[in-house]
Amino acid sequence: MLADIKGLNEECGVFGIWGHQDAAQLTYYGLHSLQHRGQEGAGIVVTDGAKLKMHKGHGLVNEVFSRGELEGLTGHAAIGHVRYSTAGGNEYANVQPLLFRSQTSSLALAHNGNLVNANALKHQLEAQGSIFQTTSDTEVLAHLIKRSGYIGLKDQVKNALTMLKGAYAFVIMTEDKLMVALDPHGLRPLSIGILGDAYVVASETCAFDVVGAEYLRDVKPGELLIIDNDGMTADTFSSPMNRSICSMEYIYFSRPDSNIDQINIHSARKNLGKELYKEFPVEADVVTGVPDSSISAAIGYAEESGIPYEIGLIKNRYVGRTFIQPSQELRELGVKMKLSPVRGIVEGKRVVMVDDSIVRGTTSRRIVKMLRAAGATEVHVRITAPPIAHPCYYGIDTSEKAELIASNHTVEEIRDIIGADSLAFLSPEGLLKGIGRPDSDPNNGQCLACFTGKYPTEIYPDTVLPYEKEMV
Ligand code: SF4
Repeated sequence: MLADIKGLNEECGVFGIWGHQDAAQLTYYGLHSLQHRGQEGAGIVVTDGAKLKMHKGHGLVNEVFSRGELEGLTGHAAIGHVRYSTAGGNEYANVQPLLFRSQTSSLALAHNGNLVNANALKHQLEAQGSIFQTTSDTEVLAHLIKRSGYIGLKDQVKNALTMLKGAYAFVIMTEDKLMVALDPHGLRPLSIGILGDAYVVASETCAFDVVGAEYLRDVKPGELLIIDNDGMTADTFSSPMNRSICSMEYIYFSRPDSNIDQINIHSARKNLGKELYKEFPVEADVVTGVPDSSISAAIGYAEESGIPYEIGLIKNRYVGRTFIQPSQELRELGVKMKLSPVRGIVEGKRVVMVDDSIVRGTTSRRIVKMLRAAGATEVHVRITAPPIAHPCYYGIDTSEKAELIASNHTVEEIRDIIGADSLAFLSPEGLLKGIGRPDSDPNNGQCLACFTGKYPTEIYPDTVLPYEKEMV
């Protein structure tokens, strides 16, 4: 799926390393491998044990660090961040990591996720005298840490984390410590690895492969890891609640070469394609996937059905970033610029087009139209997720409920709108079976809230959706 033009965007990716002389360079490569999680801003903070140094900016990782900025970032530990900017603004102050300096020590924070009680906490903190420099949730944690009555950084951080509700994977760094925390529901992915004597943390395990690190384990929900020159210690700040890892990480967001809880993303997607065929078979001549993330599922659908898999759609990888800016007009133009049908494959054929989601429906309609214009005689759309009918409050920019086509249309109405001969969505049961998590928590430890409307955390009246964030 072309999420950047379709209206389904990951918010962020985080990376951290402790105990390596090339910390900044390795963080740069790690962030490169997480670039799909956010293309609008990037930054790195390093420590040499005495002070923190930072460089960050708007753009892709290689644009932000294009003029030798890494050379000045000397130190044995670093944290980094890639960010997707939501509609309404893209202020420099919001680009992460955020760095706070004080008389005693400095604090750098990078966050993936979205807090559902950020507004309530901001009101409370402002009433106590805090002044916020950003519209980002992340800053709330810094204020809570500094205002904690506890002595010692570990207890201050633990106390602050207990006040947060929602989704968060944090990397926090001071001059002499790297701390890693995951929310008690484990909504976002976060893994720990080792590289020689160094510890590495990343939103996705693909970053470990790029820097040559070995996967150690996934960070547990409610866990706080503290890494310093004496090694790593594991602590908890909350008892784990029902695990609710984001299903969309498996369906769409994560890279196919990443694993979450040791389940490979490509394999999971292939299984989703197989389950989809079992639930919604169709007679056709070719199966094709919407690049890139639906290719694995299309291969699964083809394998299960015996219908040949073909590359029926080509993605143009050299379109400038102009076309991934989050505006409706550019999104629409972007579809044409980014995808082309392969006439020689689809002409005169009954085509199964496998995709991973339908958000607003505009992109699907355009792709179906393209396939027909290229000569496809029938287009059967198969989606490897249930209909997205509810907004995400946990860090995925799905837009508001009114814009979600499945929130106010039946499957048959959506089929008609996108102009397909048939349309089917994988059931929630098929989704859980395809991913195959052995977890005993409800829904096999997966969040299904954007499909079912059953959110794993409380949602507050003033909970801010990611797309509204910069207008607050
Ligand atoms: S609501 Fe949907 S997108 Fe958001 S965390 Fe849950 S499964 Fe993921």
